Formats: sequence, structure tokens, C-alpha cells
Amino acid sequence: MQSLDGKIALVTGAASGIGRAIADAYARAGARVVVADIAADNASETAQAIGHGALGIAMDVTDEAQVEDGFARTARELGPVDILVSNAGIQIISPLVDLSFADWKRMLAIHMDGAFLTARAAMRQMIAGGAGGSIILMGSAHSHVASKFKAPYVAAKHGLLGLARVIAKEGAAHRVRANVICPGFVRTPLVEKQIPEQARELGLTQEQVVRDVMLRDTVDAEFTTLEDIAETALFLAGFGSNALTGQSLLVSHGWHMQ
Ligand code: NAD
Repeated sequence: MQSLDGKIALVTGAASGIGRAIADAYARAGARVVVADIAADNASETAQAIGHGALGIAMDVTDEAQVEDGFARTARELGPVDILVSNAGIQIISPLVDLSFADWKRMLAIHMDGAFLTARAAMRQMIAGGAGGSIILMGSAHSHVASKFKAPYVAAKHGLLGLARVIAKEGAAHRVRANVICPGFVRTPLVEKQIPEQARELGLTQEQVVRDVMLRDTVDAEFTTLEDIAETALFLAGFGSNALTGQSLLVSHGWHMQ
């Protein structure tokens, strides 16, 4: 396993699903992990369960003050961050014509504002510390393809590619790398919730949604797993040069090939 000994890693949305799996993998690889999530209790409980000196902090990634406070506390208690995984996210399934402006803005705030605010805070610490770092944004296969009823999600996930490319360019002189992981469907609470929602919108059974919508374009009709994504995040965190920056890695059973 790749070693992250002595590294400080902050993972947002780390109290559930993909973020939690990444936080776990980083801790087992030797990093001190900050479990940042919107609910303080969930963040602390997860940090405790992960062990290895993980720290749980409450951070709503859409709130500039909470993001700044969380990064300041991290620097105070553990040191400047070496690795950021901007992962917090939600999904709202709705035809575009029925989508409220409030829901559009909420989605962009969590996925885009959250990525900007956390990446800016991480970059400032990485540049000041002089040791470089790895910024990983959680994109999606939807950073490259579109699906019905996911307008703000698809727009935001496409936007993350642009943000990562700018961070890669501005960060290069400071050895700050930025990449996007683009998972296919992973069975987390975010996905379990949308299976019945999509079934309703599309007039399909839940089995049909899984087979004919979610996994239809994969090479083997299989879900991506938490382990698949955690391993990719480990690889990107440990990769030590600017040779791999500004990229997106699709981990989706061939759903989209670039
Ligand atoms: P999840 O629902 O299991 O976990 C999301 C976490 O984000 C939760 O702990 C939640 O509390 C937290 N969160 C939500 N809003 C927040 C906020 N404002 N501030 C801080 N934390 C907040 O979902 P998941 O499936 O693990 O998704 C994680 C990321 O992976 C998301 O960005 C999602 O878009 C992306 N993704 C998921 C899949 C999938 O199939 N599950 C596929 C591609 C991309």
C-alpha cells in the first residue's frame, strides 16, 4: 500500500459513503485525517471509528467562515494540509422545467462553491508551507456525460474539470497538483435514494433503473465500489510530481471512455 506517513489529509463529506471510504484508506496508509462534514456529531463519530488520530470537524462547505475555521483548526492541531479531497455532495433528481431556482443554487453551492472554498483554503496552506500537495475534486462520470433530470449536478460536475485545470496551472510552481476523480455509480446513500426517485420520473421499476439506466453503458453491468474509489484517491494523493495534474480519472467500468 502507498504510504501517506506524516501527511495531513482533509476530506469533506467524510461521514458517509465515498468520503468515509477515502478517509479510512488514508488513515490506514498513515495520514492524519480530518473528517469534515456538515453535522458535528457525525464527523466526530466517524473520526473516532476511523481511529489513527483522525479529527472530526463540523464544516458546511458552502459557508466561507466554517471552511476557513475548519482549515485554521486543522493547521493549529495537526499542521498544514498536504491533501484535500473535496467530496461533499448531494443529488436532486428533477426535470429541468420543474427545478426550483433555490434547488439549482443549493446544488451549485455544495458542489462548486464547496470545491472553490476548500481548494482555496488548502492551496493557501500548501503554498505557505512550501511542501506542495494534492487537491482531489470528486467529480463523476457526469463530469463527462449528461443524464436527464440532473441538470445542476451535471453542470457542477463538468465545472469541476475547469476548476481543477486552473488549480493545476496556478499550483504547479508550488508543487500543488489538482485532479478530478470521476466515479460511475457507487451504492452509497446518495445513490440508494435516487433509485426510487428515478423510477418514479422515468416510469420504470427500480430493477430497470439499475440495469437500463445506471449500468446500461458500463462494460460489464457492474457498480463501481467504495474500494475502487478509495484506491484511486490513495494513488492520486501519493503521486509526487506535476506529471499527473489537471486530469480527470474515470473509474466507472467503462461507462464513459475518454
Ligand atoms: P453520501 O450521501 O454517502 O455522502 C455525502 C456526504 O456529504 C454526507 O456525509 C453529507 O453529510 C455530506 N455533505 C452534504 N452536504 C454537505 C455540506 N454542505 N457540507 C459538508 N458536507 C456535506 O454520498 P456519496 O455517494 O458518498 O457522494 C460523495 C461524492 O461523490 C459526491 O460529490 C457525489 O456527487 C460523488 N459521486 C458519487 C457517486 C455515487 O454513485 N455514489 C458517483 C459519482 C460521484
